[in-house]
Amino acid sequence: MSYRLTPRVQPRSSPATFSKAFSVYRGEPPRLVVAMAAEDITRLTILSLSMSTTVSPLSVSMEIPAYGATAAKSPLEPLKIERRKPGPHDVEIEILYCGICHSDVHKVNDDWGGTHFPVVPGHEIVGRVASRGTSATRFREGELVGVGCLVDSCRVCPECRAGREMFCEKGVTFTFDSFDQNTKMWTYGGYSTNIVVDERYVLRVPKGLDTARAAPLMCAGITTYSPLHQFECKPGDQVAVVGLGGLGHMAVKLAVSMGADVTVLSTSRDKEKDASRLGAKHFFATKEPGALEALQGRFSLIMDTVSAPHDLNKQLTLLRSFGTMVLVGLPPSGAQLDAFTLVHGNRRIAGSNIGGVAETQEMLDYCGKNGIVAEVEVINADQINDAYKRMERGDVRYRFVIDAASLRA
Ligand code: NAP
Ligand code: ZN
Ligand code: ZN
Repeated sequence: MSYRLTPRVQPRSSPATFSKAFSVYRGEPPRLVVAMAAEDITRLTILSLSMSTTVSPLSVSMEIPAYGATAAKSPLEPLKIERRKPGPHDVEIEILYCGICHSDVHKVNDDWGGTHFPVVPGHEIVGRVASRGTSATRFREGELVGVGCLVDSCRVCPECRAGREMFCEKGVTFTFDSFDQNTKMWTYGGYSTNIVVDERYVLRVPKGLDTARAAPLMCAGITTYSPLHQFECKPGDQVAVVGLGGLGHMAVKLAVSMGADVTVLSTSRDKEKDASRLGAKHFFATKEPGALEALQGRFSLIMDTVSAPHDLNKQLTLLRSFGTMVLVGLPPSGAQLDAFTLVHGNRRIAGSNIGGVAETQEMLDYCGKNGIVAEVEVINADQINDAYKRMERGDVRYRFVIDAASLRA
């Protein structure tokens, strides 16, 4: 990877293209990299919008191919982005694979509001260390590593000290679509060829795990492992997983590995055979009338991984007394809760947000020991938009993973 000084603005595209790009960035931080239509890429490699005299805090950077969206709900397209040159504590990672999480889809659709465009999603990254800063000692060149949902935090607040960097009191820096306080730039994720990350936030991928199939562990793995631990999943527990997608199938595999008796609640019967292959003992199709009646009061833990709005009250009735329904799915709009259903049986409802760095490493080591990886469909970058459409209709088995080699081609 070669480094270059960030150029001053010299747009080489047509005025129309330039004004389109400029309108995307107006009002944003002073120096940004360009997003262009696919056909512009060969003509225009990079456009630094340092229109003012502001000097970037990082005057040395590298330019790499990526895939991202320039506006809400617009298709993803090839882009060029800049990465900082590794600082003393950084490692530069050559990305091999990156999973597609439904949070990427929500972000591109601006389902949750506040997405900053252009956005380059991706937070299930596996790759090899390509270079490291002078004081980076945790990893060797060539080592297989991972990057999950977060890449920086203050490190000293009580949450960071407790290993819950995602709740950093000064504000965590997520892997993509997050304003990085140090670089003063927006972060770009793993739909790209390389990433530069402080080694404190880099994860070790255990030997023996398939590389592409390990990538989804960085988000889907930790997001489902963490609540299973928080709610003390143990052998013989009746655990239900709602929604058999990327998170859902990892929840099944992990809960089964912990000895739980797992039930899958899926919208239709389409995934019944797969659920059994993943280790679930029971399967119910939630859209079939009366399907859930036999399950009233059965579960000590229900993990809801659904990405779209749905009825939570019906699911709550399936909890035994003092049982917990933990929400990990993040539908764009909320659901009404019926107090009577919660109060009767002292039922509990909880949420769980990814996991910190140490817990993510613990999950990876656990998966290494138990041979747990995701079920994946490896795709090239030009198939990302189709993958998004399929995920929006629940047609995912069970994680799309982008082969980063297709971005280098
Ligand atoms: P995914 O692979 O697309 O799976 C979502 C599953 O939800 C689908 O496969 C489908 O399962 C079910 N579903 C979809 N629409 C539904 C509907 N209208 N009614 C009922 N069920 C429906 O998504 P994912 O990557 O697993 O992510 C799931 C959610 O978790 C997303 O909202 C994502 O943003 C969120 N998430 C949260 C965290 C966190 O830290 N809490 C981390 C990562 C992701 P069936 O086909 O089985 O019905
Ligand atoms: Zn995710
Ligand atoms: Zn902190």
